[in-house]
Amino acid sequence: MSYYAVPVARLIEEFSKLPGIGKKSAQRLAFHVLDMNEADVLNLSDAIIQAKKKTKYCSECANITDVDPCSLCRNKQRQRDIICVVESPRDVVAMEKTREFRGLYHVLHGSISPMEGIGPEEIKIKELLIRLQKEDVREVILATNPTIEGEATAMYVSKLIKPSGIKVTRIAYGIPVGGDLEYADEVTLSKALEGRREI
Ligand SMILES: [Zn+2]
Repeated sequence: MSYYAVPVARLIEEFSKLPGIGKKSAQRLAFHVLDMNEADVLNLSDAIIQAKKKTKYCSECANITDVDPCSLCRNKQRQRDIICVVESPRDVVAMEKTREFRGLYHVLHGSISPMEGIGPEEIKIKELLIRLQKEDVREVILATNPTIEGEATAMYVSKLIKPSGIKVTRIAYGIPVGGDLEYADEVTLSKALEGRREI
């Protein structure tokens, strides 16, 4: 027997499907919703529905957008001959926050992971290659995550692009700013050494 009224149990169940939300947090959120006034609840549910309904993948870079092409692809101030390849739309946001990159993006929506049965066909690699054939691109920066999957994806994409003569680069790995060499793991430290540059 459930301790909750049926609609409440359903709400808890739905919240607990969200990432990082355990049963306890789901229960807390559900009871919070019940305490909210009806207008706020409608606003919340409408925001969720609209965010899902009114967004799609940009036909050029596959970033999530409500207008196609997205605002980054339409921006005439951006350098169009340099493309930064990332795994997720969240990575685009992270890169944009640095204000360092002025080129365009390509979002793969995942990384190659044989363990999870995700092959090159499952992510947007083909779309990238088509784009490179159509546009005059000088450099592709592979900014996939420094994980086994991200690394495998970077290697795979790099091999496909290199014969075209386009410059392919990989973002450097390193010690986090404010970090301590002593506490860095060996892989990070050896990669940081490998990616050293002259100052
Ligand atoms: Zn776009």
